[in-house]
Amino acid sequence: MNNVFVYIEMEGGRIADVSLELLTKGRELAAALGVKTEAVALGESLDGIEKELARYGADTVWVADDKIFNPFRTLPHTAVMCGLIEQEKPQIALFGATPVGRDFAPRVSSALHSGLTADCTQLEIGDHKDAKTGREYKDLLYQIRPAFGGNIIATIVNPDHRPQMATVREGVMRKEYAAVPAAGEVKRIDWQRFVKDTDLAVRIIDRQIEERRIDIKGAPIIVAGGYGMGSKENFRLVHELADVLGAEVGASRAAVDAGFTEHARQVGQTGVTVRPKLYIACGISGQIQHTAGMDQSSMIISINTDPDAPIARIADYAITGDVNEVIPKMIKYYKQNSK
Ligand code: FAD
Repeated sequence: MNNVFVYIEMEGGRIADVSLELLTKGRELAAALGVKTEAVALGESLDGIEKELARYGADTVWVADDKIFNPFRTLPHTAVMCGLIEQEKPQIALFGATPVGRDFAPRVSSALHSGLTADCTQLEIGDHKDAKTGREYKDLLYQIRPAFGGNIIATIVNPDHRPQMATVREGVMRKEYAAVPAAGEVKRIDWQRFVKDTDLAVRIIDRQIEERRIDIKGAPIIVAGGYGMGSKENFRLVHELADVLGAEVGASRAAVDAGFTEHARQVGQTGVTVRPKLYIACGISGQIQHTAGMDQSSMIISINTDPDAPIARIADYAITGDVNEVIPKMIKYYKQNSK
């Protein structure tokens, strides 16, 4: 049986959230296919890693534990992943769309001639009929993502090559323990067979890690401002509302491009994906490129002068009004009622 592979990325000695999200999705895909979920961890000091991965549904944990894999280097990682895929022939291989995944997943797919869909927003199993040949395919990976500038949602399939490979950004999929932990059986990768001396040509002499100061991904409440905030000065209102609610500040791309706030706050297709409990969209029209990054929020409130703005279609509460009037009122009433 050709199983589902999930690449496990290590971040400062811990498993990256995106890998646990992919493992959650991977076990769902594997269940639909009636196959196993296999995690692949390449790093250093990985003893015991299988316990956590088993909780997320990893039946098998492939491990290559050596200092050559830490910190990440493209060539040895690519060599081991390609070798293991050729050895085990998974039908699906998933990677985080992180700097590491973006760097090495395309190399793996290129070396294996398998194809890769980047930045998927959904993954499902389904059948496919080739319109030209009439040939029918069962149980393919539907690799779903916005395309053509976000104007359509494309479902991409790869009928003829294996593995079917996809990357997914952090925060897009849910991270959930399996109802019953899987076996998490450790299998050591015979990586020395795959890594050549030339794969170790790049040596890391020094690393400077820049602290990411703004990180809105995990915030339970986000107040986001758009171009409708009018100016950088006026964008302060978004911060003021966020402050009283204990929220993080997000933004649309138009607000970022206009210089109202930092890029790290941009929500959407080319920004971060968030799923807070509450998302308040202030002066944001709700174009698909923005909503792709926030439409999984538990509750959405929009404030917009235009009652027909697309954001109203996904908002639980759509306030029709001027941000300059509505936000100060929200601040005032929230302060009054929370005393
Ligand atoms: P606008 O569309 O200009 O909307 C402003 C809204 O404010 C309007 O609805 C208006 O009615 C309202 N308004 C105006 N004045 C007031 C007021 N005083 N009070 C209340 N409401 C008011 N966008 C993103 O956000 N994130 C992305 O990651 C992203 N990626 C993209 C990737 C690609 C490839 C492309 C082509 C585009 C991308 N965009 C992205 C841009 C996206 O298409 C929109 O242009 C952008 O989201 C619009 O931002 P906005 O809603 O703030 O501005």
